[in-house]
Amino acid sequence: MKYDVVVVGSGPAGCVTARFAAENGAKVLIIERRSEVGVPVLCGEGISRKIDEWDMLEGDRWVAGRMDGARIYSPDGTKVTVSADKAGNETGYVIYRDIFDQELARRAVKAGVKIMMNTMAISLLKKNDKIKGVKAKRFDEEFDIEADIVVGADGVESKIGQWAGIKTILNPKDLETCAQYTLTNVDCKDAYCDFYLGKEIAPGGYVWVFPKTKDTANVGIGILASLSEAGMAKKLLDKFIENDPRFKNSEPIRFLAGAVPVANPVETVRDNLILVGDAARHVDPITGGGLTHCLEGGKIAGEIIAKAVKQKDFSKEILIEYENKCKESFCQKIKRNYLVKEILLDMDDKTLNYLAHELKDVKFDEISTYGLVKELAKKLPLSTKLKALIKHGEKIREIKKI
Ligand SMILES: Cc1cc2nc3c(=O)[nH]c(=O)nc-3n(C[C@H](O)[C@H](O)[C@H](O)COP(=O)(O)OP(=O)(O)OC[C@H]3O[C@@H](n4cnc5c(N)ncnc54)[C@H](O)[C@@H]3O)c2cc1C
Repeated sequence: MKYDVVVVGSGPAGCVTARFAAENGAKVLIIERRSEVGVPVLCGEGISRKIDEWDMLEGDRWVAGRMDGARIYSPDGTKVTVSADKAGNETGYVIYRDIFDQELARRAVKAGVKIMMNTMAISLLKKNDKIKGVKAKRFDEEFDIEADIVVGADGVESKIGQWAGIKTILNPKDLETCAQYTLTNVDCKDAYCDFYLGKEIAPGGYVWVFPKTKDTANVGIGILASLSEAGMAKKLLDKFIENDPRFKNSEPIRFLAGAVPVANPVETVRDNLILVGDAARHVDPITGGGLTHCLEGGKIAGEIIAKAVKQKDFSKEILIEYENKCKESFCQKIKRNYLVKEILLDMDDKTLNYLAHELKDVKFDEISTYGLVKELAKKLPLSTKLKALIKHGEKIREIKKI
């Protein structure tokens, strides 16, 4: 079995990379360990409307709801409202993630990509120490898939990077553990994605309520693994739901548990190998949103891969253009937001309440960027500002440089 490219994982990052590589002339195979693309759904299903400009999806079967914006609630319930176009990677549409992923797969197949389901990569295939594809397992059968380029699109639990010697192991302070119910018979007529902050509500993270239809919503929680213990995410989520009258008569129609990397991007390129999406840690460390970066990064990866195939040069020197373009496009922002995340983590509930009071009438450029830090710096009381400067002086200088 010989291809130009083997993509491990049929999530959004894998499908988009495969599509753009194939559209530009490469012979591509996706392998996927699961038995259905996009299932089970492990997602809050929020995404920015900027994807409208990208020609990634046709029609609107994947759209569950169009959002007017986001509302962020501080621990004492003070609300900061942000319009959809300013509200970051996770607000704009609430989607049917299974259909979304299947649509991306359909476009890949239309471009000539082959997909092999129930097939798991078990190691890299190497000859004379060079990556030459993957060893795979399908039911009881083990076999080799030869390819000039291996794409690690294998999500948060990625092994491909590790097998290639890239440091992808996540520190517990860089991992959110999540739980989510899809609840029905909910009163959610407002088209807003709601975010709830506070150390008691969700330590190191937040609770979200994303309305899918007028009576069904995804209600989830992400908490930092370093501040968490077994079962804590579900316990805190159950408590939140119990105390909110909107959910009094609701019942769950889906439950999921998963993890999100909230880390800095890792190295993404080796000779004959590229990492994309969550495997590359291309997730916004503040919001935990990764979908837009899967699409942006996947397109860049696919195009560079096709160029390498045409030139028959699969070296790191050629493939590094992918990493450089991602840096320009969104990785700088991820690094900046990582530093902001660390500053936010140090804030107690009292400071968050104070800030929400001060910020509730501010028009943000974007909720998850340097604009937020600038506003925080303006609004913080002098004593807190001085403490932050002493503790985070170096980080604030770095943020200004990025
Ligand atoms: C609870 C939760 C809520 C979230 N909410 C949002 C949100 O609202 N908005 C947002 O933008 N992001 C959200 N995210 C993050 C988002 O889901 C991820 O960023 C996105 O799924 C990453 O896509 P991917 O293609 O990189 O990986 P994935 O979608 O994880 O796909 C990886 C694929 O690789 C397959 N695979 C893994 N290992 C192998 C192997 N060895 N062989 C073959 N196949 C393999 C897996 O089965 C899987 O299908 C959320 C995540 C979680 C867990």
